[in-house]
Amino acid sequence: MAAPNGGRALLSWIPMPGSIRFCTHCGAAVRLEIPAGDNRERHVCPTCAHIQYVNPRIVVGAVSAWEGRLLLCRRGIEPRSGFWTVPAGFMELGESAEEGAVRETLEEACAQVEIAALLGAYSVPRIDQVHLFYAARMLEPAHGSGAETLEARLATWDEVPWEELAFPSVRWALEIYREYAASRREAWQPRAAAWAPEC
Ligand SMILES: [Zn+2]
Repeated sequence: MAAPNGGRALLSWIPMPGSIRFCTHCGAAVRLEIPAGDNRERHVCPTCAHIQYVNPRIVVGAVSAWEGRLLLCRRGIEPRSGFWTVPAGFMELGESAEEGAVRETLEEACAQVEIAALLGAYSVPRIDQVHLFYAARMLEPAHGSGAETLEARLATWDEVPWEELAFPSVRWALEIYREYAASRREAWQPRAAAWAPEC
């Protein structure tokens, strides 16, 4: 998929595993080594033997609709401030992916939604993320700008600012939603895709 700019913006923003320097248990400097029984390098603490595993992070988001119009937000924070997205963000501890998507929609677009279906999973291995997008129904048309949002709006397909979307996964989610909206809902199968940088 084209439009790598969003990916590059994220690359400069997400702390990469190599930036880990100190043990989260005791504060000693960690070192990279392959633990016994493992097959790849981990951050191992030489003082307390704690192994600090680093795994991909999950982003959850929702494409929400009211009477055929889609809920979009213009980002007020970096990366990609000023560009458009659907409400989405990092999953929190103690919540389901669905609860996270509902929460992000409330936080970013001040909208109450209920989840209708999983649209699909979009992997971004280059930055160690998996984005899960859901189709959602707005329970009422009310929406607004959350703390991290410059403006929120309901847009028809023709009004979607395709050239000003924040990330490749946002375009993907909207395109998959269009397929979902045209499908027999009971026969819907979630999709999967992965984004890779062009260089
Ligand atoms: Zn330690």
